[in-house]
Amino acid sequence: MTHTHCPYCSLQCGMRLERRGRAALEVQAWPEFPVNEGALCRKGWTAAGLRGSRERLTSPLVRDRASGELRAASWDEALDLVAARLTALRGQHGPDSVAVFGGGGLTNEKAYQLGKLARVALGTSQIDYNGRWCMSSAASAANQAFGIDRGLPFPLADVEGSDVLVLVGSNLAETMPPAARHLDRLRERGGRVVVVDPRRTATAQRADTFLQPVPGTDLALALGLLHLVVARGGVDEEYVAARTTGFDVVRRTVAAWWPERVERVTGVPASELRALADLLVGAAKVTVLTARGAEQHAQGTDTVLAWINLALALGMPGRESAGYGCLTGQGNGQGGREHGQKADQLPGYRMIDDPAAREHVARVWGVPADSLPGAGRSAYELLDSLGTDDGARALLVFGSNIVVSAPNATHVTRRLEALDLLVVADLVMSETAAMADVVLPVTQWAEETGTMTNLEGRVVLRERAVAPPDGVWSDLEVMAGLASRLGSPVAFSTDAEEVFSELGRASAGGRADYAGITYDRIREEHGVFWPCPSAGHPGTPRLFAESFVTPDGRARCVSVEHRGPAEVPCDDYPVHLTTGRVLAQYQSGAQTRRIRVLPDDGPFVELHPMLADRIGAHDGDLVVVVTRRGELKAPARVVSTIRPDTVFVPFHWVGANRLTNDALDPSSRMPEFKVCAAAVRT
Ligand code: SF4
Repeated sequence: MTHTHCPYCSLQCGMRLERRGRAALEVQAWPEFPVNEGALCRKGWTAAGLRGSRERLTSPLVRDRASGELRAASWDEALDLVAARLTALRGQHGPDSVAVFGGGGLTNEKAYQLGKLARVALGTSQIDYNGRWCMSSAASAANQAFGIDRGLPFPLADVEGSDVLVLVGSNLAETMPPAARHLDRLRERGGRVVVVDPRRTATAQRADTFLQPVPGTDLALALGLLHLVVARGGVDEEYVAARTTGFDVVRRTVAAWWPERVERVTGVPASELRALADLLVGAAKVTVLTARGAEQHAQGTDTVLAWINLALALGMPGRESAGYGCLTGQGNGQGGREHGQKADQLPGYRMIDDPAAREHVARVWGVPADSLPGAGRSAYELLDSLGTDDGARALLVFGSNIVVSAPNATHVTRRLEALDLLVVADLVMSETAAMADVVLPVTQWAEETGTMTNLEGRVVLRERAVAPPDGVWSDLEVMAGLASRLGSPVAFSTDAEEVFSELGRASAGGRADYAGITYDRIREEHGVFWPCPSAGHPGTPRLFAESFVTPDGRARCVSVEHRGPAEVPCDDYPVHLTTGRVLAQYQSGAQTRRIRVLPDDGPFVELHPMLADRIGAHDGDLVVVVTRRGELKAPARVVSTIRPDTVFVPFHWVGANRLTNDALDPSSRMPEFKVCAAAVRT
């Protein structure tokens, strides 16, 4: 019996794995693990379904130059070939001719080692990861406002003690069902749940108050609510004076956002805004949580800042069962952005342009600080530059299925085609692996040990339950194999616990300090919350009780203005397109689409009966969604739960992201996945 965690989302539900026969695994409940108390969603219960699947890759594959087909190769042949071609490219075009792309599902150890591989063994600045597309806007906003980015600065269960919980752009009842019990318990205590979403989702159906704004207008909604809070005398002036700076400018900015103006921009009736403002002003404890619906916009950072301003004005962050948090999406979306696979960061959430940070990390790595490259490009910009005069000519991909998950995916696929060398490490032949010159088969969650950091900042341990299939290597072994062939000046360990200990030293003194966390402590304590700077430190479940992580200890109220989406509907593209997830699938679907017991009906187009009538479509008819970047044909799902001016497409299948917009947030470089202008027809 092995205690571990689900391979998918950021809740990182605890589960037990029991061996059945030689290789099969059975998922069982782990009721003592506090985050999910034994509950799992459908994806968790069926997570072992990829074990023994014929779709698992079990041999490296190399593209044959003559036939153009992938053929089996030995590990030595594949890694020798990759190393030789990377060395030649670096010799000819410099180190930045090689790029690395990671993922928010990689363990902390892998994410750390990938950053080290890029900076030490390859010497490239060109590394980023798909988490940039997940919660980077919330990260950017939290860093500005609080001086630190930990998705939730408190354990998730704390929300049960709130009087009002506002969920902005989160469908947690569908994306992480075990978390929805906190909503039920909050309501049983007499608390109120507010959901803001363009769709009346499963989460909205559990809410007391539901606001249905036009996609891309959450920022204006937050400005309007703060306007009303100010007008009603609901600002906690004592808190604002003692614990924040900058509120006077914010107060002046929101003065222009009277309810009727907000109604015109957001479509939310002024009466609903007033009612919600009254609810917020009358509540002792308010928690605001944002998720991708609010964040995946070209104004995502400012949108989150506007909601943080509201929480600060009400005096909530740092109070018990109150404050602001971001519901991270990917399994290690949190840890994956802390330890060095982000273009501008070194381990411990240190910035790569900080001389002291470079000195510290270089010392741990055993290399001169001036040998480390500077900041690289953000995820989309990195992909957009591939194969151009200015961009990389080779790309190593770990834990990401770019062809499905990148915005403006047709364009990104063309950039991948322009590469001299594409190397993909994956469990299965994902759409991106199918394009690669070399495919490296790697272990999946139950076959390896490593840590993840869940949405609460709780570092948990996934323990190996079973040996990998013959022919499969761990990502750490792949990185070590490549590093030695590339002539790395330092060795790369293949032992996860050893790598975690090195990560702890590299993170020591940084904002995300893991120095006091060990595998044994994680086992004994059901996870340890960072920062945890020393062995005797208890970890930090709750932040901000006394001060924020800014030089003067005060939170920053940052004045922001609503700009609107990069694309607004017009005659040719008259509706909003928004994208999201469904219960049975996870991210690009590379794993969940291959688990037979999970329903896989393919993409669909959700639209309102009024819109369906207008284009002459019925439920189940094939309809076409067209944007300036591409089109998708899929069956219509006619539902009255969506705004009549909006269509929704889930993004787990190839196609949805051919439609989405690559306009970027100026601060986080988050693409505008959540809204663009579209036409829909039969
Ligand atoms: Fe829990 Fe998320 Fe896994 Fe579902 S997918 S079992 S909510 S960790």
